[in-house]
Amino acid sequence: MRPVILMNSKKIDLKELLKEKKKIALGGHVRPDGDCIGSVMGLYLYLKQEYPHIQTDVYLEKIPETFRLIKGTDEVRSEVNNNETPYDLFICLDCADPMRLGFSSSVFENAKETVCIDHHISNESFADLNYIVPDASSTSELVVTLLDEEKISKESAEALYMGIAHDTGVFRYSCTSPETMENAAKLMRKGINGNAIIEQTFYEKTYVQNQILGRALLESMLIMDRQCVVSVIRKSSMEFFHAEPSDLEGVVSILRQTKGVEVAIFLHELEPQKYKVSLRSKQYIDVSVIAKHFGGGGHIRAAGVTMTGSAHDVINNITEQIARQFEKLEEKSVIPQ
Ligand code: AMP
Ligand code: MN
Ligand code: MN
Repeated sequence: MRPVILMNSKKIDLKELLKEKKKIALGGHVRPDGDCIGSVMGLYLYLKQEYPHIQTDVYLEKIPETFRLIKGTDEVRSEVNNNETPYDLFICLDCADPMRLGFSSSVFENAKETVCIDHHISNESFADLNYIVPDASSTSELVVTLLDEEKISKESAEALYMGIAHDTGVFRYSCTSPETMENAAKLMRKGINGNAIIEQTFYEKTYVQNQILGRALLESMLIMDRQCVVSVIRKSSMEFFHAEPSDLEGVVSILRQTKGVEVAIFLHELEPQKYKVSLRSKQYIDVSVIAKHFGGGGHIRAAGVTMTGSAHDVINNITEQIARQFEKLEEKSVIPQ
């Protein structure tokens, strides 16, 4: 059974929220991806322009090189200054739980008021005020709905458009709704170069990224009667190719494209006996439930978790959960036997 979650929470009135605030912080999840960076930076650029009297700081881990074309990314703080006085407000974006804030969780905890804007189904509304819409394609799309369309600058639109494009796999995944297209259209009308943003931040790969992708594909295996594809990238391979964790972005989505498979499982060895696991499904399996079962989270078709043990143990534990779901779906005749 899916745990009880808040499906649609009340929209946030930004103007009301920012009344009498002098100093606010924005933050997102560890290893920030396109949507995390897009939503945080899009909101940041909007707030700086519309509320210049408020000190607004952004806390995010180091921004990967590909995302540096987004304005303001050079102003991001990747360390906490212990002398900083508490913020009046911390707005947390695209982050399913407070631990996922990583280094900025102490800034969040010390803030006088907290807000969370997110679309992860696993989010348990951990802030004082929560705007969680699991049906939304991306946090960036949610941010668009909170802003005054007329006041969105071209630079803010670029960030938000990038976020939507990334979490929808360039308007391809099932999370893409008619509203997603309408919100993206609003951003396009700001005169952004959408093609260049998509090409440079989503499709373009460095030589190293292609090499490590090649390794992951070459060593992938079909398991569970060819219903799942699994691949493991070891620390030694990362060192051999001089690859960064962010170079693995997108590998699991390509594994999922394998014809006939329902689930793609990708393991990235963080340290001996510790793996970052990425899960993707096509049609039936709810991977968010599986990730949450092991302490992670995410969405129905895309989720992640960090697990300990050997790669063999991790894969066994995950496939056991997938098998259970398959059995239930067959019992209910959702999937023909
Ligand atoms: P990834 O496989 O890392 O691309 O993650 C897929 C989705 O699940 C993203 O939306 C992540 O934000 C989310 N996610 C990944 N890892 C975790 C985790 N440990 N806890 C909660 N959500 C996660
Ligand atoms: Mn994200
Ligand atoms: Mn997201």
